[in-house]
Amino acid sequence: MNCIFCAIISSNLPSSKVYEDNVCVAFMDIQPVNPGHVLVVPKNHVTDLSDLPSGTGMHLFQIAQQVAQKLPDSNLRCEGINLILAHGEAAGQEVFHVHLHIIPRYKGDGFGFKFGPNYRNLPQREELDTIAAQIKQQLEE
Ligand code: AMP
Ligand code: ZN
Repeated sequence: MNCIFCAIISSNLPSSKVYEDNVCVAFMDIQPVNPGHVLVVPKNHVTDLSDLPSGTGMHLFQIAQQVAQKLPDSNLRCEGINLILAHGEAAGQEVFHVHLHIIPRYKGDGFGFKFGPNYRNLPQREELDTIAAQIKQQLEE
């Protein structure tokens, strides 16, 4: 298996680590959106959310929260933070070893989400209810 993050975890590729424990490692993104962009990555190879054990997911979030809380005190330009996880190619996932991005943000940094043409057309409550019912049913199955 040819996985960049597995190679980093086994020290076959270099990384700039900020944190490590038995379950995960956090290191600097090689192409940061802004300085201080960190990735939190499980040590076990897991492709995406589909095969991420929930306990590992909780741990990744817990570590991401701890790192995020320290970013504003780390001499970085950090007025806000985005935590982002891309699940699947359509969502922008490029490295298929699950990871949580911690991205420091500041006003005017030029990063942002691009919305589709229908974004400003708010759906009717009926449509929201229908979709909610569909998801709820899946959750109950
Ligand atoms: P994603 O689009 O969510 O899959 O993000 C993959 C991220 O991994 C991107 O932000 C890349 O810049 C980052 N990345 C790719 N290769 C490396 C590497 N060798 N070390 C650190 N970050 C990397
Ligand atoms: Zn991997």
